[in-house]
Amino acid sequence: MDNKKIAQLIFPENTLKIKDIIKKYPKRNLKEGQVVTRFAPSPTGLMHIGNFFQAFISYNLAKNTDGILFLRIEDTDEKRELKEAKEVIYSILNRFNINFDEYQTLSGEDIGSYGPYVQSQRLEIYKAFAKELVAQGKAFPCFCKKTQGKEDVLNQRKTKFANDDEKEYDPCRDLSYEEVKKHIDNNESFAIRLKTKNKGTERIKFYDLIKGELEAKANAKDFVILKSDGRPPYAFAHAIDDTLMGTTVVVRGEEYISSTPAHLELFEALGFPFIKYCHNPLICKLDEEGNRRKISKRKDPEANMMYYFEQGYPIDSVLEYLLNMINSGFEIWRKNNPDKKWQDFEFGVSDITTVAPIFDLLKLNDISKNVIAKMSGEELYTTWLSYAKQYDKPLAEILQQDKDKYIKLCKMDRENTIKPRKDIFNYAMIKDNFDYIFSAPKVFELDAQDKVNANEFLEEYSKTFKMPISNEEWFAKVKQVAEKLGYATDNKQYKLAPEKFKGNIAKACEFVRLAITGKKNSPTLYSIMEILGEKEVRSRLNKRF
Ligand code: GLU
Repeated sequence: MDNKKIAQLIFPENTLKIKDIIKKYPKRNLKEGQVVTRFAPSPTGLMHIGNFFQAFISYNLAKNTDGILFLRIEDTDEKRELKEAKEVIYSILNRFNINFDEYQTLSGEDIGSYGPYVQSQRLEIYKAFAKELVAQGKAFPCFCKKTQGKEDVLNQRKTKFANDDEKEYDPCRDLSYEEVKKHIDNNESFAIRLKTKNKGTERIKFYDLIKGELEAKANAKDFVILKSDGRPPYAFAHAIDDTLMGTTVVVRGEEYISSTPAHLELFEALGFPFIKYCHNPLICKLDEEGNRRKISKRKDPEANMMYYFEQGYPIDSVLEYLLNMINSGFEIWRKNNPDKKWQDFEFGVSDITTVAPIFDLLKLNDISKNVIAKMSGEELYTTWLSYAKQYDKPLAEILQQDKDKYIKLCKMDRENTIKPRKDIFNYAMIKDNFDYIFSAPKVFELDAQDKVNANEFLEEYSKTFKMPISNEEWFAKVKQVAEKLGYATDNKQYKLAPEKFKGNIAKACEFVRLAITGKKNSPTLYSIMEILGEKEVRSRLNKRF
């Protein structure tokens, strides 16, 4: 009886009935195998790759089971400017095309009928459940004060809890109605704590969809379920929201495993059935000694999802790389299905890696080279331009002014070839790799003999130069000039008596290549000439070393 009176005394204004709340969240009608899952980020101002990893796994699980994915903003602990932090989350998810079936729009409209999808708008719901637990004697108000200074807090904790290592019972757990009333009349603030029913000796078993059956010490702490500011810590909000919103699989990082026993005690206290968990390993990096360490937003720029946009990685490169980390089978699948979209790769919970994946930039670059190699020229141009519009405005101007030229560049040696070039893994590289398309190369330093030969060759070649209309034509012409000037056009002959020639045909081509690109290696010169146009090619051929 006292418990009911205490509940009413501490939360007189909360009149929400649990029955009515539950009615608003009817059981979802699901088909066999359909998964309801969610991404539940806290707005911190950046999107960590670990969080995005969870989002992407949830997205795939929902997609692969024709299920439901919703977005829940967990903003009950936020001190910072929320609007901007929320925008970061929405913008990154949006740019990666992670679409949700249910969410709240940035302007505050709930899409879906299991909202509000933002926790700070659900405070009355948490309070109603806390009140109910107090009324049932499963939770209690705690009036212990937070004092200033770390020492004080530590000492207070020591005396506050019957701290025998086994259990942490709070001294306020058995306050009488009269005692509570005295505190309330004094206008003292209070938190609500769960009154654990465990004694510290129990163990609990729970099943994780990735890791299988796990066993741990059951919770034996009277932990806080509602803070004195009326906001719930993660555990309480998780138990209530994932139950009401009909989540069937909770995908979250494995850092939550250690607190799962506490979560399960809450589910039990609230009378909720358990939900399935899928705890994912955290993404790691190898340090200099070859040891694994958690990827860190302080040390590793690639821990922040913005990094990939800034560096100009296509979104599919990043997503394919994440798939590769989620399930190593993806790599083989990709090899066997080079033309399929990554979306066609299906995996279930049991296929998710149990080992912490190691982030490897070289691997990402490798995947990205393949992704870019498969793009059409138009697609590469469009995505490159939109990258430039954001991160390199002068380049964007150039790309737009001379659209045809740069589309040709994007198509060069990629479309309609059996083996497309794979030398680019991000948009930022295109400008560096093809600097000679943007401006004439600086004159390359050659040794004395090469210089004489190169100048002689260019002199002769440019005298009768006509824009070639095919690769064959351009080569035939170089060959003709080379023969005239005493270069070997047959490699066998050249090898037999190199002293008889000025060089072989490859050497002759190299002179033209150097004049036009400033490099010893490049895609076929014919294609480059086509992009540069006759006037520019002539002017480059007129330069001398
Ligand atoms: N807000 C929590 C986080 O960002 C969510 C964890 C979960 O998915 O349950 O870590």
